[in-house]
Amino acid sequence: MTNYDVIKDTRILISGAGVAGLTTAYWLKQYGFSPTIIERASALPTGGYKIDVRGSALQVLRKMGIYNAVATAGTDMQGAILVDKKGRTIGKMSGDAFGHRTGDDLEILRGNLCQILMDQIPDVEIIFGDNIQNISQYTDKVEVTFQKNKSREFDFVVGADGLHSNTRQIVFGDEAQFSHELGLYLCVYTVPNYLNLDRLEMQYSELGRVAAIWSSRGESTAKACFGFTAPTKIDLNDRVQQQQDLKKIYEGIDWEVPRLFQLMPDSPDFYFDAAAQIHMDQWHNNRVVLLGDAAYCASPMSGQGTSLAIIGAYILAGELAVASGNHQVAFNEYELQMRHFVKLNQALGITAANTMKSQGKNNFIIWVLMKLMRMMPGSLIKFIINLSTKRINQAANAIVLKNYK
Ligand SMILES: Cc1cc2nc3c(=O)[nH]c(=O)nc-3n(C[C@H](O)[C@H](O)[C@H](O)COP(=O)(O)OP(=O)(O)OC[C@H]3O[C@@H](n4cnc5c(N)ncnc54)[C@H](O)[C@@H]3O)c2cc1C
Repeated sequence: MTNYDVIKDTRILISGAGVAGLTTAYWLKQYGFSPTIIERASALPTGGYKIDVRGSALQVLRKMGIYNAVATAGTDMQGAILVDKKGRTIGKMSGDAFGHRTGDDLEILRGNLCQILMDQIPDVEIIFGDNIQNISQYTDKVEVTFQKNKSREFDFVVGADGLHSNTRQIVFGDEAQFSHELGLYLCVYTVPNYLNLDRLEMQYSELGRVAAIWSSRGESTAKACFGFTAPTKIDLNDRVQQQQDLKKIYEGIDWEVPRLFQLMPDSPDFYFDAAAQIHMDQWHNNRVVLLGDAAYCASPMSGQGTSLAIIGAYILAGELAVASGNHQVAFNEYELQMRHFVKLNQALGITAANTMKSQGKNNFIIWVLMKLMRMMPGSLIKFIINLSTKRINQAANAIVLKNYK
């Protein structure tokens, strides 16, 4: 039987006000816990890149009563135009087909989803602009010191602070132990919507190099996006070098690429990172537990990071409630339920990355692919997208959620 007196007095610190952190706070609050969020950014970031919510994660949005709000605030992408190196149209797809969405699947800007989630937790304490500095664990509590605020005691800490998690670094050790780079880089930045795209995406793709520009519903600007393999490692801390390398790697592609590179230095939000997954044998250490990208990042290549974050949050909070705050029971059960689901969804990212990296490999299938790419590039791209939609859909639905309330 759930002990509500224990739950009421249980203080839980969540590091990160992203999708995972905000969803966890919502469910913890629903069950009567006292969550507090600490977020490094000075305010909730708005806009951002497009993310998908699919499969079983949609059930969580429905249980939260926000499915319609997310759908209404969705990107409403009407279509995608596939282009060749010269910018000539080689194929067209609907927005949903291009984004691997089936049925009720949704797409929304990351910041807009976070805003909707934050609107659901008006009575949760959120501290912006600060970081956890240290976590000391005791048998009955944790003591947390912050960079700016005074230290405080909590019962548990949830690390939902993303791929480069601070909580993981403090409690579990160096990121390099857990990070598996997929051999691809991703770059996204805002540009003026000079093509007047209206809920439309344009994309150039070949094995090893993808370039895209899109603008979604309500955006006055557009986003430039590049996903590519590189012959040598790129320094993730050197922006000038990154921008120079990008230009070299995309040499020979005309279309809008030179223009997008001209706009790159003035972009307000240049994002550049290696696509990576997080693989850990255990997501909890005594009173600290990891969630979302911090624990099991599947990479943007999987298209499933957001759904994994939402489902993980739902299960973690639900299991803590069922176990009346017994963290050992709850954290074990959370891992037990999530492990297989995470593995299936991480496999999507690995397959997508391997396809991108296959150029130049000497085998028959790649030879056929390259041949087809030259003969009918638009049809081949559509075929590959449709094939991966089936796999994503299967993986996105491969978990049965319990009813906790
Ligand atoms: C370019 C790009 C494209 C993507 N496309 C898709 C897609 O199409 N579909 C999809 O499902 N997923 C996509 N993803 C992945 C998706 O964004 C993540 O998987 C998902 O947001 C995971 O949520 P999270 O809350 O675990 O982590 P995050 O969204 O990374 O949130 C972590 C939060 O923690 C905060 N934080 C970081 N460090 C600290 C700290 N030290 N202290 C306190 N707070 C901190 C951050 O500011 C952030 O608010 C994409 C990601 C990127 C980068």
